[in-house]
Amino acid sequence: MAIFSNDSLKQKHVLITGATGGIGYETAKVLAGMGARLTVTGRNEEKLLELKRELTPLSGEENIFVKTADLTDQASREELVESSAKALGFINGLVNSAGIGGGGVVEELDEETVERVMDVNFKSTLFLTQLVYRRMLEQKEGDIVNLSSLSGLRGTHGNTAYAASKFAVIGWTQSMALEAIEHNIRVNAVCPGYVETEMAWNSIRKKAEKNGISFEEGMKEAAAAIPSGRISTTEEVANTIAFLLTDAARNIVGESLKISGGNFMR
Ligand code: NAD
Repeated sequence: MAIFSNDSLKQKHVLITGATGGIGYETAKVLAGMGARLTVTGRNEEKLLELKRELTPLSGEENIFVKTADLTDQASREELVESSAKALGFINGLVNSAGIGGGGVVEELDEETVERVMDVNFKSTLFLTQLVYRRMLEQKEGDIVNLSSLSGLRGTHGNTAYAASKFAVIGWTQSMALEAIEHNIRVNAVCPGYVETEMAWNSIRKKAEKNGISFEEGMKEAAAAIPSGRISTTEEVANTIAFLLTDAARNIVGESLKISGGNFMR
């Protein structure tokens, strides 16, 4: 009996943060194509409305709820979760894709940057999840996928604060997964290497500038360093997130799934 079914997310309500960003946006499209009902959130309302227009033919306007939120603010997080549940009912799934780059080499780090990166990538994610999780606990069901990174599994030269925040996401994912699975709630993380989004391009641009080469050369170098010879597409990451939310992944718990073209081995 095949256990992978495209239908297991049909009518499920999934809240996606960072939905105006490359990975969140694509994840919304993949999940809508699988029949999920979606709350999409980010900070740019115009981009969210553009996303809603793209999603409408896939899942119907009534199945998409758009809400802007600053996830570093508890009142904003509470309003997001309240309004999302009011609009589309119980939140079956949560994808924590909001995140920021930043950091730099150790000697250049300042307190403000470190606090900001930890706040958005770790603390805000944790406290948003807590709000959704409390509701999941009442229903004894739910699936959560966190965006960590290859930088959350190994040291990353020149990106110390970001890497620390993504290590934190994995430590928290694994610890929460142990508690949550007792209540039939799964928590997992995905760990992409470079993905074709603004965030990766910014990082490659910065490195290229430092090494005195052009952005195009920097892109070529980045791809050449990856065993598969290329960086991931947003669709590849979105598909992995979707898989982790489906019943096919029902015994995958506390995982940190790498999507890196084999780059984790280097
Ligand atoms: P992106 O910059 O395209 O999108 C980030 C999203 O986070 C945006 O929608 C932005 O509005 C949102 N966001 C940032 N701060 C916020 C705040 N305070 N409140 C609400 N929303 C906020 O990035 P992306 O490439 O789509 O990355 C998504 C996730 O994947 C991030 O957590 C990132 O760290 C992780 N990741 C990305 C890559 C990559 O190469 N792009 C690699 C590994 C991991």
